[in-house]
Amino acid sequence: MRYAILGDIHSNLSALTRVLEDISTQSVDCLVSVGDVVGYGGSPSECIELLRSHKAVVVKGNHDAACVGELNEATFNRYAREAVHWTRNVLPKADLDWLRSLPLQVTLEHCQVAHGSLNEPEAFEYIRTTRDADPSLELMTSPVAFVGHTHMPIALMRLLEPAGATAYAPQLDVDLRESDRCLVNVGSVGQPRDEDHRTGWVLFDSEAQSVRMTRLEYDIEAAAKQIRDANLPRMLADRLYLGV
Ligand code: ZN
Repeated sequence: MRYAILGDIHSNLSALTRVLEDISTQSVDCLVSVGDVVGYGGSPSECIELLRSHKAVVVKGNHDAACVGELNEATFNRYAREAVHWTRNVLPKADLDWLRSLPLQVTLEHCQVAHGSLNEPEAFEYIRTTRDADPSLELMTSPVAFVGHTHMPIALMRLLEPAGATAYAPQLDVDLRESDRCLVNVGSVGQPRDEDHRTGWVLFDSEAQSVRMTRLEYDIEAAAKQIRDANLPRMLADRLYLGV
């Protein structure tokens, strides 16, 4: 089975369209989103529509939760908060209901999916270090799990030797047979923060036991214009060019 795993999309229709175009050439069986479909960008409803039409498996991110009042956006920075308020006002009820219906965590046939962490998905914790990853690695019942939230691609591996030790790899080109289990952060489709402005997606091939990320140039200007036209904070457009 071949899975396409999409990191935080954040209402960036231009990036999502580019990623889906590439995925359509790769005989993928199942589309998965690790959440934060909305927030920051100018096209929330269009992104939701695309995921629904592709029958994607989607978990709920913190921005998705904030838009439907399940998380207090007072904890967000000013720009994120403004985007939450704007998104909440422009989304039709059907889209808000869909966001509300999303699960916090999903176990599929070959992998597990959550937004922040597996151990406390409702807390939306950030996994940045091997130590942060350990509670999730302990709980894993599949050889691989996928998360997002930090917008930084990274693989965190529970090693076979020395057994119980955790290591990390910043390049997402992973042979799952080389570790006991692996927690993969798939980065972000719509707002990459690893100083690489390109969008991207992750292919997980359960037969080949491989995980590989592809990065792609996309029409950033179109995404930036949608943010400016919506009168969202300009900073949210500017950062797309820098990948921060
Ligand atoms: Zn996010």
